[in-house]
Amino acid sequence: MNRIAAGEVVERPASALKELIENGLDAGARSIAVTLRQGGLDGIAVADDGHGIAREEMALALERHATSKMPDEAIEQVRTLGFRGEALPSIGSVSRLSLASRQGSGDGWRLLCDNGVISPLEPAAMAPGTRVEVEGLFERVPARRKFLRSPRSEYAACLDIVRRLAMARSDVGFVLEHDGRRIFSLPPGQDREDRVAQLIDRELADNHVIVALEREGVSLAGVASLPTFHRGSADHQYLFVNGRPVRDRLLVGAVRGAYADFIARDRHPVLALFLTLPAEDVDVNVHPAKTEVRFRDPAFMRGMIVSGLRRALDEAGMRVANKADASSTDLWQRE
Ligand code: ADP
Ligand code: MG
Repeated sequence: MNRIAAGEVVERPASALKELIENGLDAGARSIAVTLRQGGLDGIAVADDGHGIAREEMALALERHATSKMPDEAIEQVRTLGFRGEALPSIGSVSRLSLASRQGSGDGWRLLCDNGVISPLEPAAMAPGTRVEVEGLFERVPARRKFLRSPRSEYAACLDIVRRLAMARSDVGFVLEHDGRRIFSLPPGQDREDRVAQLIDRELADNHVIVALEREGVSLAGVASLPTFHRGSADHQYLFVNGRPVRDRLLVGAVRGAYADFIARDRHPVLALFLTLPAEDVDVNVHPAKTEVRFRDPAFMRGMIVSGLRRALDEAGMRVANKADASSTDLWQRE
């Protein structure tokens, strides 16, 4: 595969990491362990306890378009997260990649892919599941390497990816280590609130409201901070659409609108919101570097988020001062 083209799929350690974690999730992992060195520039390892890869499919997994996840439904309904069989081959074409895997009761096998050159399979002693290690990303592709940033900012991007995926899947355990340091260890089967609080700020556990709203087949759920708990940036505002972490400017505006009466303009609540809607109402563009969405009815989604947050804050006793008349009576009556 063309090495510059590979950079379209994988542009930095964080985008490779995202693909590897998503493969683990697709494989039904209950736990995923991520180990990074120097922000992933020196090394990325992702180990899962998923269903593994059959010996005869190991090499195939590193060949282009070798996805085992062929969609039999319409493309927008594809449940798996994969980028159609391009991730592993792309990463392997621009790094030294080791793929080791073992299915349940079988033996483990490993193969190496050194900048596109695949070596023969060798036995590997390992627990069931899959472990992928990536070293020297873009070492042989100066045109791409020059776009890489400092270990510090590559690490920040990796951390953001792991956080988002770990929030999206609080049923799965995640361990993150960076340069020998344990960053977090999240057990499988956590409640969403606990998971989000553990990933953003433990104090959020005592300073949040639960968001829950259903409207016309769309559901909004999540965790949002009380207006007294805020940050100087909107970095910790997370949106998930149909289980996928996405980035959308709509969120920032909607959150600002919902909290406008409670919070200074330069302060930002922290939150994680999960929208579930019919697949045909949203187009999720799974460009691996940045997942973006296009809602068929963005105004409706914005309205959902504003109302969902308002209602949650309202129920927690947050009142808009200048609307005190009507709503405070309401509050008295309810209690
Ligand atoms: P995609 O995820 O789009 O299928 P990838 O290049 O990410 O493509 O992976 C290629 C194939 O390798 C997958 O379809 C899957 O069969 C296999 N594979 C990759 N990673 C894993 C994993 N962690 N566990 C099980 N199978 C995997
Ligand atoms: Mg994949």
